[in-house]
Amino acid sequence: MMPHTLALVLLVIASPTTSTFASTQDSPAQAASPTIPDNRPSYNSNTTAGDTKHFDPAAATQAWLDSVPSNQREKSDAYFEGGYWLILWNFLLTGAICVFLLESRLSARLRDFSEGVTNIRNLQIACYAVPYLLLFYALSFPLNLYENFFREHQYGMATQSFAPWFREQLLGLSLTLIGGTFLVVVLYAVFRRAPRTWRIWGTIVMIIFSATLVLIAPVYIEPLFNTYKPLSDPKIRDRILAMARANEIPVKQVFEVDASRQTTRVSANVSGLLGTTRVALNDNLLKQCTVPEIRAVMAHEMGHYVLDHGAKLLTYLGILMLIGFALTRILFNAAVKRWGKRWHVRDIADPAGLPLLALIFSILLFFATPILNTVVRVTEREADAFGINTSREPDGMAQVALKLGVYRKLNPNPLEEFIFFDHPSGRGRIRMAMDWKAENLP
Ligand SMILES: [Zn+2]
Repeated sequence: MMPHTLALVLLVIASPTTSTFASTQDSPAQAASPTIPDNRPSYNSNTTAGDTKHFDPAAATQAWLDSVPSNQREKSDAYFEGGYWLILWNFLLTGAICVFLLESRLSARLRDFSEGVTNIRNLQIACYAVPYLLLFYALSFPLNLYENFFREHQYGMATQSFAPWFREQLLGLSLTLIGGTFLVVVLYAVFRRAPRTWRIWGTIVMIIFSATLVLIAPVYIEPLFNTYKPLSDPKIRDRILAMARANEIPVKQVFEVDASRQTTRVSANVSGLLGTTRVALNDNLLKQCTVPEIRAVMAHEMGHYVLDHGAKLLTYLGILMLIGFALTRILFNAAVKRWGKRWHVRDIADPAGLPLLALIFSILLFFATPILNTVVRVTEREADAFGINTSREPDGMAQVALKLGVYRKLNPNPLEEFIFFDHPSGRGRIRMAMDWKAENLP
């Protein structure tokens, strides 16, 4: 255990609030399965010492899972499993749009148009990129509308009517046009100067671009969609800030965000990089969760901060990107050799080949889904481990895992978890909490 968690241990044990919240009244484990009498969630309740021996983490985990009504479980399973298919539909739609732009030679005509507008190379690329991005957005809009508006309403997650939703879509599209055009212009400058080694320079550009995006997001992008303010409720604030101070996290970086503007989901996040890093709890979490649950979530988010997950994920992403670009280069050259004449695509430096690049990249991304999810899920599990040791709230953690189960399948099979889960499943998280509890009972 890290030394700075010691203060928290003392805080939790000494604090009457925590023991109240963590008392048996919150426990579905006990309510749902009276046959497991020693499944008391509170490790400082007045059970006898003999209980320690009887606490069975597997049975306790099952009892938590069984506390979810079956109709609720069916609904959240359907929601999450529908997401598996959406990965496929999005992949197929993107592929179809790319093939359409190439086969119809719309992409080549757009390139010809941009070359007619100006002689400046970078401007030509920009003149190609803006209509390309707009066309892509328009053609994928029906699926976007279903996935992010109708489906979210159907499952009771969305809180926005169409007008504000669409306004945010347009805002997002504007940002995509600015950032996307800039990125495409820079990448094609690399393609022109380094037609053989662009995979290396392209990777460096992508890493710098991603890092910059992460760095400026909390300052310039997130405030466009939501309001961030320092935590206001002193009861919660003081407990969270104590945990932050104990983990060397600058207190001014713990925020509350009005996510209820868009969704009913309970969540929290860490965003930013270096000086802009901040931890934000959403207001749904603050409204729906007890203090031990909030502490469990915040300790997890602090884990991301303390364990430097932003920089680590960027590093992993960079390695995967380099492999992806190397494969893309081989596939791109092969495709141009074979179909270049038909599509009027000359070489890598020709913007008419952008849909081909996008097609190859989306194929690689599609097949890399389990790898990408696993990379993220492993860091999430690290944050969970940090979180449970820091918060010492096994029941809070289990309870929150059930609340997240509204939009994430609670009990998947191992293969399903490996392929589709970018966070540990509810079952995995509850089991971690119960294992921790079994070893830490008084
Ligand atoms: Zn996380």
